[in-house]
Amino acid sequence: AASERESLYVVSEYAQKYFEDRLWNSEEGKNIGLSYFKERGFTEETIKNFHLGYSPDGRGIFSDEAISKGYAEEFLVKSGLSIKRDSGELLDRFWGRVIFPIHSLSGRTLGFGARTLRNDKKTAKYLNSPESEIYHKSKILYGLYQSKGEIVKKDKCLLVEGYTDVISLTQAGIKNVVASSGTALTVEQIRLIRRLTNNVTILYDGDAAGIKASFRGIDLILEEGLNVRVLLFPDGEDPDSFARKHPQHELEDYLKEEETDFISFKAKMLMADSKNDPIAKANVIRDIVESIALIPDEISRDIYLRTCAQIMEMEEKVLYAELAQLRKKHL
Ligand code: ATP
Ligand code: MN
Ligand code: MN
Ligand code: MN
Repeated sequence: AASERESLYVVSEYAQKYFEDRLWNSEEGKNIGLSYFKERGFTEETIKNFHLGYSPDGRGIFSDEAISKGYAEEFLVKSGLSIKRDSGELLDRFWGRVIFPIHSLSGRTLGFGARTLRNDKKTAKYLNSPESEIYHKSKILYGLYQSKGEIVKKDKCLLVEGYTDVISLTQAGIKNVVASSGTALTVEQIRLIRRLTNNVTILYDGDAAGIKASFRGIDLILEEGLNVRVLLFPDGEDPDSFARKHPQHELEDYLKEEETDFISFKAKMLMADSKNDPIAKANVIRDIVESIALIPDEISRDIYLRTCAQIMEMEEKVLYAELAQLRKKHL
């Protein structure tokens, strides 16, 4: 119901302010949270721009405070900020973590990501708000509220994996960036981007998971009729770590030089271990043509098919036959 949604907005807004207040105005928050962000290279302006916060290290501190301020237990629990035990006790979902609020396109607080400050494998690195009436993770892009103007202006959207990638790139002056944080990229997220631009560049982490996710992302984005390019970071790097190690002009050059069309990217990745083996090469070509077959627009398909033929040094007509086969399945 509308009033339930409104109550969830109100309690989320309160929580964001609470976590920000703890970050800036409590000794614990300053010593632990704020210094963590600063060690990561975030400026005060950046921390404020993204409304980053800190949740105190104690299991019910936030919930008790919220209740004492008159917020209803029902909405604290429905928003996922609090967890009600069988004993009736109200516990905090996020405690002893730094907080990344997640906003709607219009800037309303919908939910939170929370990062542990510990460095052990037992603790989940990030926790996220659970699904609620206002937080549908598959329909939200982290950073979109801050970046929407720049995405329109640049007519291009950079897509990264994590909160900190969005924040570090934005701080480095590359502001047309969003993340599909907490979930694999979805069709709904691509449609959000499509309202602003037709051009997406995937900038995923330089690891096996990042490569796999970019293959999946390419196909999803093509299917929605958008142009997709890809930029892979060196092994073990993500946009955040890379942005911190390199001055801004080097980062900008890297982004410009390393960005490739999806065909060259797939060819390079897939050909890496199949050098001169004709059967392996045939499989690579088939894989690329399968992606091209997903493109709804016939003229675009045609252009990409020619590119593919060139890159793979193949006769176009062979590829057209393969494409025709695959398109039949779509009809
Ligand atoms: P950091 O730089 O703070 O270590 P990251 O953003 O580089 O974090 P990755 O491990 O690359 O973290 O993961 C990318 C994104 O996936 C995160 O930003 C987060 O949204 C999500 N994520 C990572 N680990 C978890 C987890 N344990 N539970 C839920 N989501 C996670
Ligand atoms: Mn990763
Ligand atoms: Mn990462
Ligand atoms: Mn990282």
